[in-house]
Amino acid sequence: NKHVEILDISFINTSFSDMEEKIANHINKGEKSFVVTANPEIVMHAKEDADYKGYVQSADYVVPDGNGILLAANMLKQPLKERITGYDLTISLLQKANAKGWNVYLLGGREEVNKRAADRMKADYPLMNLVGRHDGYFDWNDSVLKEEIASLNPDLILVALGFPRQEKWIAENIASFSKGVFIGVGGSIDVIAG
Ligand code: UDP
Repeated sequence: NKHVEILDISFINTSFSDMEEKIANHINKGEKSFVVTANPEIVMHAKEDADYKGYVQSADYVVPDGNGILLAANMLKQPLKERITGYDLTISLLQKANAKGWNVYLLGGREEVNKRAADRMKADYPLMNLVGRHDGYFDWNDSVLKEEIASLNPDLILVALGFPRQEKWIAENIASFSKGVFIGVGGSIDVIAG
């Protein structure tokens, strides 16, 4: 099976390394893509909130973040190959960004968390190009930030607004961008900030 449906959410059934390669290919070709790392909380929220379900369904890839998703797939007798967590995917993409000199934008978290995470990223992945960063407490009705981010031409946009905000923000704003892979990374920014 290429995909496994769990409560109307279509999970890609692939390995971590294949997912990483798919994302890298989009970036190398200058294509846009939206990745949701969905845990059981996200699936249950989508079940209750039709708007949110729409945002998740608009993603190019939904990957299984969390053992609960793998267990559900097993119960449906359509096992998923591998768990792909937001944190692991973020770290492996930062390593790739470092190897390839990708442009990265970091959106979200409290200002001090965002700054600390950005400093860590610059220290640990010195060859990636951190083109900008902004905390996650901004006015959604003001399109200036979105336009500024788009003008920086990021290849990879890490969106740490927590669920469900990050998927909503990506779904509502991705049309303004000409390229870039968007991933909601949730609390990973707090882990990176240390
Ligand atoms: N966050 C944010 N803006 C918001 C709400 C949350 O930037 O309006 C950040 C928060 O500071 C934290 C991250 O999103 O760094 C993850 O938040 P939370 O733990 O609530 O989300 P989860 O990890 O459950 O997705």
